[in-house]
Amino acid sequence: GPYGAQRRHASKHRFFAVELSQALFDFVIQRLPTQEEMAVKEDVRKLLERLIRTIEPDSRLLSFGSTANGFSLRNSDMDLCCLIDSDERLSASDMVTMLGDLLERETKFNVKPLPHARIPIVKLSLDPSPGLPLGIACDIGFENRLALENTRLLMCYAMIDPTRVRTLVLFLKVWSKRRSINSPYQGTLSSYGYVLLVIYFLIHVKNPPVLPNLQQMPPLRPISQEDTHIGGHNTWFFDDIELLRQRWQSSNTDSVADLLIDFFRYYSRDFTYNTGVASIRGGLLKKESKGWQNEASSRYNDSRERNRFCIEDPFEIDFNVARCVTKEGLYQIRGEFMRASRILAMRPRAVAALAQLCEE
Ligand code: ATP
Ligand code: MG
Repeated sequence: GPYGAQRRHASKHRFFAVELSQALFDFVIQRLPTQEEMAVKEDVRKLLERLIRTIEPDSRLLSFGSTANGFSLRNSDMDLCCLIDSDERLSASDMVTMLGDLLERETKFNVKPLPHARIPIVKLSLDPSPGLPLGIACDIGFENRLALENTRLLMCYAMIDPTRVRTLVLFLKVWSKRRSINSPYQGTLSSYGYVLLVIYFLIHVKNPPVLPNLQQMPPLRPISQEDTHIGGHNTWFFDDIELLRQRWQSSNTDSVADLLIDFFRYYSRDFTYNTGVASIRGGLLKKESKGWQNEASSRYNDSRERNRFCIEDPFEIDFNVARCVTKEGLYQIRGEFMRASRILAMRPRAVAALAQLCEE
């Protein structure tokens, strides 16, 4: 009868989900950085820190981005941030120029200082060698305290539910790179943008939620403005993950595969690209309420382009993380979400499905 058919349907889906979840874990594990790679990167960080201290003795060089937030893949680049604790410090662009010269003289890195970028950085790279078969790429910025904090926020989200969150994020990073939709310079979205899409989905779309909203939880004790603000931005979030784990348990029991299927479905069908802003802090917001409409409401000609796709930065809330996404880029990204949905809806064998999803 009809109930039998429904049961068979559900059990087929469960079988597919179990198999796909296992395949996702295996897929991701093979692409994690090795111990050796992490050790080499830490050595590079220390070496660079020593060199920088020859110009700024009171400086520290800290990792952020994927090397520090738990979302790192093999051969991912290194993001480093230099903090200077003294009062009379040089401007970021002067530091970039000076450090560029120093590294050029003292190291074997290929050095490219970008003192005039929106965020001035020195770009470094090492060509492949026997010990480092894929070389190394590294960006050094200055005083980018917000980036250190948003890295810590993402790391906390990864720690709350390491298996599901990390597997989803890492898979989507590989997928978006292989499908060529992970390059802000070409009108698509950065890894950081994809991570925010995943976290937004797990907090605000899934019901029951897989993650709590760390930025909206009540603090344990009163806190002062100075402790929570960096450059006028509120960077407070609940970061005692040990305690959180004792007090908060998600009642969502979806498997990683279920979540991935829903993620693709949501972003191919349900997310309101024309009017909506994905905000991990505030849920689904309206472009209108943030002044981010992409109609010709502004005198800048490129403002239409800037707000096609809107993802609010967790701390710098006036900043659209997806502002580099162009009309064509968004078309491409949505096309990929639809393609992925279509592939998974056919329930092929899991390993083949992942290979097909990530086909270059
Ligand atoms: P990958 O492994 O691909 O390098 P990643 O996790 O390091 O991924 P990136 O996109 O390289 O992610 O971003 C690294 C860090 O730089 C982020 O954690 C964030 O702090 C900062 N960042 C990157 N892009 C943006 C952006 N558009 N707006 C604000 N901060 C950003
Ligand atoms: Mg990075």
